[in-house]
Amino acid sequence: MLRGEKPPLNIEITSMTAARIEFTLRNADVSLANSLRRIMLTEVPTLAIDTVTVRENTGVLHDEYLAHRLGLLPITSTFAHEYQFQHECSCTKKCPRCHVAYELKITNTEHEPLVVTHRDLRPVNAHIAAIGNEIPLPADPPLRDEQEFSARPGESAIVITKLARNQSLDITAEAFKGTGLLHSKWTPAATAVFQREARVTIDTKKMQSLPLSQRQAFRDSCPSNVFDLETKGSYADRVVVRDERACTFCDDCVNWAIDKKIPDLVAIQEKRGIFHFVVEGTGALDAYQIVESSIKILSDKLKAFEKAVHDGVTNKDKKEGAAKERERLGGAAGDQQVALAAQGAAAAAAAASALPGQI
Ligand SMILES: [Zn+2]
Repeated sequence: MLRGEKPPLNIEITSMTAARIEFTLRNADVSLANSLRRIMLTEVPTLAIDTVTVRENTGVLHDEYLAHRLGLLPITSTFAHEYQFQHECSCTKKCPRCHVAYELKITNTEHEPLVVTHRDLRPVNAHIAAIGNEIPLPADPPLRDEQEFSARPGESAIVITKLARNQSLDITAEAFKGTGLLHSKWTPAATAVFQREARVTIDTKKMQSLPLSQRQAFRDSCPSNVFDLETKGSYADRVVVRDERACTFCDDCVNWAIDKKIPDLVAIQEKRGIFHFVVEGTGALDAYQIVESSIKILSDKLKAFEKAVHDGVTNKDKKEGAAKERERLGGAAGDQQVALAAQGAAAAAAAASALPGQI
């Protein structure tokens, strides 16, 4: 590798389910990691219910409360990119290209309370609603793994409200495409965080000179259990770094050493270019789709920026070229005018010499 050349970016996925992905981004800098994190939260488009028409509601929750709960339902947004933003759509108000309508029409005829969930919403005109390969329906809440699913199989529906006997709902809800920039209900990521990795260095000479009680106190100063005591060779109960990944840069161990007047006992530094990401979805998109989309959005932005710079430079070159051409033409015209003036003077002199009596 040449001097100054950076190693290529690298992503290593350490665990992945539909709801959650953990990966390590290497050879990046904090600006790139943070750009991805912010795009995941605010710029990956999804569908979410934005308008609600209530024709009948005899339940205990008032209309606004129901509308709020409906708005927060995650809608399957795998094909959200196939939909238009309403303000960019060519239609005058709304059409199947920019929205999906759902109907919630239900009455409790039993004596027991009826639990109304996201599964009770039915798409209106399903045959025209599906622009992609599937009809975007309210999604099941994300479960982290099969174990969690088997632990609460009956609880996987999102409760909207409960109806007592003879209570009814007749509601139309319309989902539109949007991003978290406008409202958090369009955010596909419930969690998008990254953590830097620490390099923990212990001054072993200074550490071994401490009595065992102080070494134990040092180990216990870390709330994340980064350190441990182990017996190895001639060193009894040596302080070792158990798990660097657990370090949260809280500096409690450094402050402990400063309090005990033992400077440089431990040093916490950042391993440059390494970021451990955790992304959890709301259910609208699988976690890996959120990551993929954010990378594509960032890439598209950079391409658009590159094009804007290219166009700007080209236009500037064109303008400067045109100005130079005008200047050049202007100079030639001037020369021509000078030549014409000289010709005129010569002709006048000739005429004067030919007709001296007229002057
Ligand atoms: Zn439209």
